[in-house]
Amino acid sequence: MLKSVTGAHPIVETRGLVKTFGDVRACAGIDLTVHPGEIVGLLGPSGSGKSTLLRHLNGLTRPDSGYVTVLGVDAASASGRRLRGLRRRVGVVFQQFNLVGRLTVLENVLSGALGRVRGPRYGIVTWPRAVRAEAFEHLDRVGLADRAYQRAGSLSGGQQQRVAIARALLQRPELMLADEPVASLDPETAGSVMDLLVRVCREDGLTMVCTLHQIELALQWTRRVVGLRHGEIRLDEPTHLLDAVRLRGLYLSDPVTVP
Ligand code: ADP
Ligand code: MG
Repeated sequence: MLKSVTGAHPIVETRGLVKTFGDVRACAGIDLTVHPGEIVGLLGPSGSGKSTLLRHLNGLTRPDSGYVTVLGVDAASASGRRLRGLRRRVGVVFQQFNLVGRLTVLENVLSGALGRVRGPRYGIVTWPRAVRAEAFEHLDRVGLADRAYQRAGSLSGGQQQRVAIARALLQRPELMLADEPVASLDPETAGSVMDLLVRVCREDGLTMVCTLHQIELALQWTRRVVGLRHGEIRLDEPTHLLDAVRLRGLYLSDPVTVP
């Protein structure tokens, strides 16, 4: 594993990552290194390979070839306990929130602790007091402590995503992965959820890799943009050096090459 200039081990390291579906190269040789505390946006048009790359980072997908090391674990080959151990250390937030709508907000958040609290399937009454207190702390952080006993399915999209963030935080993750976390939300709600997500990651010293397809969101909320197109990294730069005009290049069709 390479060491960064600061001496800290990278959180994520992929080398020559290739993943093919039929004749589609979803990842066409990805070299990506993410260091502790980075907030990275994976930006690119639909079908550019963002979700596939992200899924390699918690072992949901295995590469055809290449290396993926996440939190020091070989995510390309880990299985069983080792893979479960890795997933416990990686919080995930999805576009569609993935809450259990018929359960309460609190029960959904508590499910984030299932990996680290041992024992039978916990009902709401039998969760250890300390874990419940921690769940309430996170609900408070996302501004929904007063909704704890409401059915998750009755909340708005933005509120459901806040619950999903609280659930991920209860995992006490070291890496946060977010796959188009605000793509289902209206622009105003999207901004407030991105603000929350970035803020809690900063507060907790978490590293985040977040896929986005909107240039403006990447420019506003990330510190580094990795631009994907056709499964390849086309740019990788600090956000403050980028502007919308340059990023739009990712979305333009490939120029015709004249021999
Ligand atoms: P993005 O998240 O940037 O929209 P994806 O990673 O979802 O891109 O997809 C990249 C390419 O791989 C697309 O062409 C998509 O159709 C294809 N793909 C992704 N997952 C699968 C799958 N499970 N089976 C077949 N094709 C897939
Ligand atoms: Mg996607």
